[in-house]
Amino acid sequence: MPTLLKPLLAAAISGLFAIAGLTALAQQTTLPPADRILARAIFQQLIETNTSHSVGSTTVAAEEMRKRLLDAGFSAEDVVVLGPDDRHGNLVARYHGVAGSTKKPMLIICHLDVVEAKREDWTTDPFQFVEKDGYFYGRGTQDIKESDAASIVSFIRLKREGYVPDRDIILALTAGEEGGEDNGVAWLLQTHRAMIEGEFALNADAGGLTTHDAKPLELGVEATEKLYADFELTATNPGGHSSVPTKDNAIYHVADALGRIERYTFPFELNDVTRAYFVAMAKVVGGQQAADMRAITGAAPSVVGEARLSEDPHYNSTMRTTCVATEMTAGHAPNALPQSAVANVNCRILPGHTPAEVRAKLRELIADPKVEVTLDISVASDSKEDDMSITPPPLNKEVFDALRDVTAEMFPGTPIIPEMETGASDSKLTMAAGIPSYGFSGMGVDDDDDRAHGKDERIRVEAFYTGVQFDYLYLKRLTGGK
Ligand SMILES: [Zn+2]
Repeated sequence: MPTLLKPLLAAAISGLFAIAGLTALAQQTTLPPADRILARAIFQQLIETNTSHSVGSTTVAAEEMRKRLLDAGFSAEDVVVLGPDDRHGNLVARYHGVAGSTKKPMLIICHLDVVEAKREDWTTDPFQFVEKDGYFYGRGTQDIKESDAASIVSFIRLKREGYVPDRDIILALTAGEEGGEDNGVAWLLQTHRAMIEGEFALNADAGGLTTHDAKPLELGVEATEKLYADFELTATNPGGHSSVPTKDNAIYHVADALGRIERYTFPFELNDVTRAYFVAMAKVVGGQQAADMRAITGAAPSVVGEARLSEDPHYNSTMRTTCVATEMTAGHAPNALPQSAVANVNCRILPGHTPAEVRAKLRELIADPKVEVTLDISVASDSKEDDMSITPPPLNKEVFDALRDVTAEMFPGTPIIPEMETGASDSKLTMAAGIPSYGFSGMGVDDDDDRAHGKDERIRVEAFYTGVQFDYLYLKRLTGGK
């Protein structure tokens, strides 16, 4: 745009805002200058405190944030640092609600630890907070120190205003999400359950605002999870010379088993989250797909609509448990009968079902005693026979009402999409403990700029400040404030 036009346009826009009485709203959706400085300082402090598993310490970061809250007027008994050892500390802070509130506290969880980062892999020092070309760079700028910072800033701002929420707000900034054996959420649930007991939990480490060229596309809310399970299909055989083949062949046994799995489709099943997902998506997509989505979410789900939607791999995986062959090793020489054949079948299991149940189904399908089906319980897979992710309760109305309000103010027109993901965040722990958990934040990340766990991790400067303001507005709206 010609530079001359810019001031004119700005004047016209501010005129419009004044006419519509929107000036106050425009101000409210922007982080005030003094709080930008505060947010930046806290973010920098967190990025420059190494909290990786190998050499870092979440205790140091937790203590720094504790001091920030104490300086803001929180009392010492409401802000504690605790953990299994001196390097895996967790911060638990309680913001007291109105006296005599009948509402159970709400919980916010967010991890303080970060994935390892090597200086030589990065363009900048991963543990230096660098502002460059409109971005903040550093390990943890996307995952997930930007949201740790936002929570601390919100607590400080609300305290400064003398704000009293309609219930207690518990904030837990935790250790060990990215690795190691000292997961802070698991440890707190086991050893200090009462301290973090909430009616529901919010977790910025799942779901979130997706943008393209900084423009909001959608706000995903992770509200349930599929389970991950690897099954090994194994057949063995004495083998022999391939010039005199026998009928019994390890490769054929496993190949036949895989064929049966390929031809099987797990039953269609929706829960409250995936139903809400399709209802929301029906407003985003058009035409036949939208009609099919409406047809499968009604009282009598349309079989035809379900079949058509199943042709899309993403929609298909949202409607059912899936199992697919992913690896295979077999035989030992081109001129020998195979002594063994092993295939890996990777399953993503709908909430409310167990790996044991899926294994029984696979055995029934294969119906061949020569093929063994075992659940892989190695560290990489880490699933157990009786694991079960909880079938989600109805979506919490308060959580979503506040989200709709604040999203409409800050990102007008952006759809809110409830999502089912695969157990990748600490929400799997709180959900398993019976605390309904919702994953989202207002920190926009471009759809082609996901750098969590990668090199040169970064977040747009303005996306960070916007996300900090979103966090504050949301927390206030959710707890009875305006
Ligand atoms: Zn994370």
